[in-house]
Amino acid sequence: MRIPLIAGNWKMNKTIDEAKAFMQAVSEQVTDPADVETAIAAPALLLSTMLANNPGQKLRIAAEDCYWEDAGAFTGETSPQALAAMKITYVIVGHSERRAYFNETDDTINRKVHAVYRNQMTPILCCDETMGRLEAGEKIHWVVSQVTGALKGITEEQARQLIIAYEPSWAIGSGKSASAEQAEEGCYLIRQTVADLYSDDVANEMRVLYGGSVNPENIDSIMAKPNIDGVLAGGASLNAETYLQLVHYQ
Ligand code: PEP
Repeated sequence: MRIPLIAGNWKMNKTIDEAKAFMQAVSEQVTDPADVETAIAAPALLLSTMLANNPGQKLRIAAEDCYWEDAGAFTGETSPQALAAMKITYVIVGHSERRAYFNETDDTINRKVHAVYRNQMTPILCCDETMGRLEAGEKIHWVVSQVTGALKGITEEQARQLIIAYEPSWAIGSGKSASAEQAEEGCYLIRQTVADLYSDDVANEMRVLYGGSVNPENIDSIMAKPNIDGVLAGGASLNAETYLQLVHYQ
């Protein structure tokens, strides 16, 4: 039984006061994590405020990225060890914006996946896909190579915990979501890739999310698909009321 996960990604948005107001509006209105899990990924400098304003701790607090070393002379980076010490649950790794604007590669993403597991947190691994590749029919190779590259050296036990988000870059922030069928196809391909790398058993345990212009109008049809276990929402997670509509999609 895979528990649905409704995750938000704030990106580089919100001040400390705005983060606090969001938490006060949302933290006690989310679902029981045993039924539907909820998470918000926020910039590192907002995480303490969010953790301090999460009384029932039903909402998981996540980081948007981290470095692959635990500590040291890496000016400006976010330590996975420090995130773990704060009790951060999830860390997004390999978001398409990190790949596109900060030159992240499958190799650096793989190092980050290891760092997140080494520090007893769980990665939300994002896999990108461009329209050009989709039109060229390259999608299978693209998703397979990203998942395979990111999971090098990851054990079967670790892979069972994994969360992968299928996020076509043409759907991110564009207001143009993939159709539920396209989203299902991408999530299915990812699950098959994990089945080939590990086993059907591992692939059936691992959760796959869809991300790309998810909103309260389209979440129902997306969540109805068998290989989609949740969503990663950017824009729609910024407003407390809209995020709660996603959470209570059923
Ligand atoms: C994202 O940031 O991962 C994302 C999917 O953004 P949006 O929902 O705004 O398209």
